[in-house]
Amino acid sequence: MPYQGSCLCGTVTFVVKSPINKMYHCHCSLCQKQGGGCANAATIVPIDQFAWQSGEQNIKQWHKSTGFSSHFCSSCGSPVPNKVGDSLMWIPLGLVAEAAPELAAHLWLSAKPTWSIPAKAERNYADMPEDLGEFVRFLQS
Ligand SMILES: [Zn+2]
Ligand SMILES: [Zn+2]
Repeated sequence: MPYQGSCLCGTVTFVVKSPINKMYHCHCSLCQKQGGGCANAATIVPIDQFAWQSGEQNIKQWHKSTGFSSHFCSSCGSPVPNKVGDSLMWIPLGLVAEAAPELAAHLWLSAKPTWSIPAKAERNYADMPEDLGEFVRFLQS
């Protein structure tokens, strides 16, 4: 700590000041398309534990009408952190080299591709956690 994060080309950089103890995979169809894989690997931290270091002006955004949004480096296409509500920040963990969190949850297992075999995790959701606040506290615990 603090953890350093960067996109593929290194233009967008940031720091996460809080511990990153737990993370989740989201297997929903949107995350599959956004990352090009079977799931994303992410955690959520309080926004006051996050700071941009460089490249924030290089970030482009795409918003789906249902509320899903994708923020990405306009040079290299890496997904980058984005806000969840007013007080939280979503962190794609492939950007954070030093973090070694426990895989604690799977989201949207009902949507996972047949060729994906998820590793064991403490929590397994068919779709989304009903109480996002409780889920974020779990990730922070
Ligand atoms: Zn980049
Ligand atoms: Zn998802």
